[in-house]
Amino acid sequence: MRTIFLFGLLLLPVFFIACAADADGELSVAEVAILLDADLRSHKQAVEESLAENLRVKVSVQVYSRKDLAAARNAVSSYLASKAVPVVIVVGVKGVVPALVDGLDKDKRLVQVVLEDMGVSEAGRKKWGRDKLVLSRLVKACLEGAARGIGMTTCPNPFCVLRKHEKIAALDAKGRGLCPPCREKVGPALKKMGLKRLPAPQFKPDPKGQ
Ligand SMILES: [Zn+2]
Repeated sequence: MRTIFLFGLLLLPVFFIACAADADGELSVAEVAILLDADLRSHKQAVEESLAENLRVKVSVQVYSRKDLAAARNAVSSYLASKAVPVVIVVGVKGVVPALVDGLDKDKRLVQVVLEDMGVSEAGRKKWGRDKLVLSRLVKACLEGAARGIGMTTCPNPFCVLRKHEKIAALDAKGRGLCPPCREKVGPALKKMGLKRLPAPQFKPDPKGQ
């Protein structure tokens, strides 16, 4: 009798671990959605890669034309209608962003990135696509917006994208990615929202040893 009881106790932690794994398996993978002004089109891939690598979530970046704001607005609404989307980031100039999010901005999942606020002027619009500083600021703003959108807070590490910045010089000085401790917080932050990350990439040793 005692043997059976002890055996049962030994199995208990295994049962709970199995339950936790099952519960995690049922969660949807988080998807971060971004609406990007068409003049920033050439930076789309860099934004996608940065978010995918740092947060390990699905990333959907849509480029919108200022001539067709209705389509962009519809895209924002449909992303917000999905429970798998914890953050929708709208990137544009100050003359456009408010029109795009009007009436939707009460949703806490909506993050507005106004280019002029990060020192990118409308006047230089034709050169945005070739400007490395615009690219760097855009990548940092999108990653920081997404991380804050899932509930992550300011980080003291000067190389971390979640480092607080008030001036543009401080934005340019900080790193483009999340520091290792912040990366560790992404999974638990998403789990609080009922979502999960993509699995970590597995290291595959090269059989030829090259
Ligand atoms: Zn950090």
